[in-house]
Amino acid sequence: MVEYIQKMVMVKVIMIYTNFREIDKAGRIVISKDIRRHLNLNPGDVLHIEADDHCITIKKAENKCVFCNSTVNLEEFEGKYVCAECLKKLRS
Ligand SMILES: [Zn+2]
Repeated sequence: MVEYIQKMVMVKVIMIYTNFREIDKAGRIVISKDIRRHLNLNPGDVLHIEADDHCITIKKAENKCVFCNSTVNLEEFEGKYVCAECLKKLRS
């Protein structure tokens, strides 16, 4: 019983959104409103697009330090991000 309860707790509920979209003549697709809302995608956000022989993956790009790729303690300067650690090194 304990093992069963542990397995139940470990189950993660994943909401999957699927759509069929047509590519327009300029190669664009529309990301549906429900997906944009779910991922908090807003106009101007940067997306990272990867492709292999069979599939295209689109991810919301994370803000990263331009020097070390850290995603924590970032400060923005003219659209670029620098982490506190690198900022400290730059100032010394
Ligand atoms: Zn950094």
